[in-house]
This record gives sequence, C-alpha cells and structure tokens, in this order.
Amino acid sequence: MKSMTKSEELFERALKVIPGGVNSPVRAFGSVGQTPRMIASAHGAYMTDEDGNRYLDFVGSWGPMILGHDAPEVREAVMKACEDGLSFGAVTKREVEMAELICGSIPNVEMVRMVNSGTEAVMSAIRAARGYTGRDKIVKFMGCYHGHSDALLVQAGSGVMTAGVPDSAGVPQSCTKDTLLAIYNDLASVERLFEEFPEEIAAVIVEPVGANMGVVPPLPGRHLGSSAAPTASESLLAEDKNASSAEQADKEMTAPGFLEGLRSLCTKYGAVLIFDEVITGFRLGFTGAQGYFGVDADLVTYGKIIGAGMPVGAYGGKREIMERVAPVGPVYQAGTLSGNPVAMAAGLAQLTILKEHPGIYDKLNKKGQWFYGSLKQIAEETKAAVQVNSCGSLGCMFFTSEPVVDYASAKTSDTAQYAEYFRHMLSNHIYIAPSQFEAMFLSVAHTREELADVLVLVRDFLNNDLFMQ
Ligand SMILES: *Cc1c(COP(=O)(O)O)cnc(C)c1O
Repeated sequence: MKSMTKSEELFERALKVIPGGVNSPVRAFGSVGQTPRMIASAHGAYMTDEDGNRYLDFVGSWGPMILGHDAPEVREAVMKACEDGLSFGAVTKREVEMAELICGSIPNVEMVRMVNSGTEAVMSAIRAARGYTGRDKIVKFMGCYHGHSDALLVQAGSGVMTAGVPDSAGVPQSCTKDTLLAIYNDLASVERLFEEFPEEIAAVIVEPVGANMGVVPPLPGRHLGSSAAPTASESLLAEDKNASSAEQADKEMTAPGFLEGLRSLCTKYGAVLIFDEVITGFRLGFTGAQGYFGVDADLVTYGKIIGAGMPVGAYGGKREIMERVAPVGPVYQAGTLSGNPVAMAAGLAQLTILKEHPGIYDKLNKKGQWFYGSLKQIAEETKAAVQVNSCGSLGCMFFTSEPVVDYASAKTSDTAQYAEYFRHMLSNHIYIAPSQFEAMFLSVAHTREELADVLVLVRDFLNNDLFMQ
C-alpha cells in the first residue's frame, strides 16, 4: 500500500478542524480531483511543499507576488518593522508614507483609507458611494468577484462558480435586493438598469479586467462599419490595441469601449464608478487599469499587491467622496489593525520598487504578451478547442471553442478538461490555479526558459487526441 505524503497527512488533519481543510475555498483542489499540496516555503518563481517537491508557481499568492516570492527588499522591511513593535492602535509614519505614495501617483485618488483585505476595501467603498450619493442600489457584473461581503455575493465567479453554488447560503435576500446584475462587456445591459432606476443607483462596481471568471478583458471601442474593427475574439489578445485605443480616446469612435461606456453612463446618471483593482492595481502598470486603459474611476479598491503578501486592502478616490468617511464624515468605517505597521512596511517596500522601476511593467507586460501569445499559437496549431485570453501579465486558457467575453461564455468551458490540464501541469511540477475560473499570474521572477518549458508541456497536453476536434 502506498504510504501517504506529508501533504496528504496534514490535509487529513486539516479536514477534521478546518471546514474543507482550507481557510479559503479556492485553495481546495476539489474541482481538479486532487489533494492540496501543503506549501512549506517559496522563493522567486518557485514554491516547495512539505514533501520537498518544488513547483514553478503561477498563482503567486493570487497576485501579491509580482516581484516573485520572498523579495529581499520586502523581507528586510518587514523584519525591520517587527523590531519596532507589531501594532500600536495609533497613527504611524508608515501609514502616512503609504497614503502619500498612493495619492501622489494614482490618478483620481486624492485620499485613501487602509483596511485589511480586498473584501473590506470593496465593502467600505460601496458604503462610501452610498453615503455620498444618498442612493442604495449598486450595479455589479455577473462573474465579477468583489470579496465575500453579503451584498456582493451574487453571481460572483471564481470560488463560488467552481463550487457550483449560484449564491451563498446565509445571505438574506434583504442584503442583495439592492444589488443589480449586468452583463460584462455589455453596455446595453447597464444602460437598461440606469433607465429603469435613473436616480437610485449609487455605484457601478467592476473588475476593469475580469479576473475571477478566468481572464476576461474589457472590449475596446470600435469604429462601427470599419473593416478594421476587431472582432470580440481578436481584441481579447490585443494589448497594443487596448493601449492605443486608450490614447485615442476619441471622437471618431462610434462604439465606446466597455470601460469608457461605463464612465459616461455613471457621469450621466450621477453614479459613482468603482474600479475594483484588487487584482489589476499595481499589476497592469503602477497606475493600474485606470492608467492602462486611460479611464477615470471615482473610487478605486486595492488588495493583493498593495500588501506584498501581508493582509492589506485600501480604498480611495475623489476627495469629496472620501471626506464622507468617518471621522470627517458620517460614513462609519474602522479597523483595529488597519494600517498595521508591519503590513505597511511590506507594501511600501514593494510599491516603492515598482514605482522607481517602471521598466518592470514594460517587461512584465511584454513577457505576458509573448507567453500568452505563444499559448494562443499552440492552441491554433494543435487545433484544440481552447481560447487563450490575456491582459498584461494576467491570462488563462478556457476549454471551449467559443470566444470568452463574459460570464455566460466563460461557463461554456469544459472544467473536466481543465482538471486534466491542471493534473498534467502539477505532475510536471507546474502550479497553476486549481480552478478554471482564475488567472495565471506572471511575475518578475519567471524566466524565458521556464516559460518556454511550460509551453512545451502545454503543447504536449493539447496534442493529446482527446482535444482534437
Ligand atoms: C481577491 C479579490 C477580492 C477580495 O480580496 P480579499 O483580500 O480576498 O478579501 C476583491 N476583489 C477582487 C477583484 C479580487 O480579486
């Protein structure tokens, strides 16, 4: 009889005392029919499990590890901060420096409040938007995930989607009655909601690049009637087109891009546009999706990269909205550990490196374009029924023959095939998300050689007869 691995032994223990053995559902390998690897340590692009297996990691703690694991500058800043004490429950210099760094660099963020997670950031931003507008309704998109607060746990992608649960139990209907659902990349679906509730919508919240239903970039604007107009599927791998469409931002354009269209609808109806940049913030570029696509938000939420691996979130935006927040304004929001000095030290160290070396983003986005572009080419050559979607260093492969532009098309992906793909990669020591509906996260630490090896493995996998159409 095969003896158990250390990961398996630990997971058996975990199952007895932690629901599902995990502290966040997507860490469970249930949907890919595996036992989670217990990770003992990580450095650079690699993670090592309790059995000593080493994996090339494409999850990167779900985004924070943009510099690779265990970046020395971050580690040293954290250790130094620990020597000064772990928490004071009082104001500290590092919080001021963090806020200045963000407000000094990010468009439309004039004030910022630190919190402890992305969930908290979004929940608080929604409250601020409601307090500012005096309205109750919010618009969210099917397949976008904004953390696990009650009002936003409706058709929320990723973990929820993988588990096959449309909504969460324990969320009273009264908590979601003001949550209106729209279709990603479908401006008409948003317009209809505004026409129905012109004076009741406080905010539209969007992942500027959908990254919790797999990766679904926003469609760029189009010149209607022009033969040069990109089709939906073409524009999904169109880094350059996105960037240049942002620059053109533009009179000739007859059909606005998805994000541009949301901007004008929110302005027209007096609603707050919230970009949930928990994944895209400091990833697409230092100024996040706002800078990358050239579209202004009123409020922005952060998490993941901003904490460099420590539990941190933030929300910020226009001064007139943020000044509604307590203790200046009537919108209450607080946190015992918010702006924690050790967490701030980690985030500050990472953001400082990213800000001082903007070339990092150029290289990372080009790396993404090359890697995901190669994946797409392999998919075409092997005639596999897969779609490769990407934006900058984020990307994913969907096992469907349909272009994926929204939640409905994402759901056409064959998750059993994804599970096979996952197992093929894991057995070759490549750690990708244990769910179809998550992104791959490239980091500064991934080398061309390592990525080239991965491409070979993907080709091997797709060449399998099973995937020939
Ligand atoms: C991860 C994520 C969140 C939630 O952040 P947590 O830190 O997990 O609470 C919110 N929004 C988006 C877009 C995310 O990807």
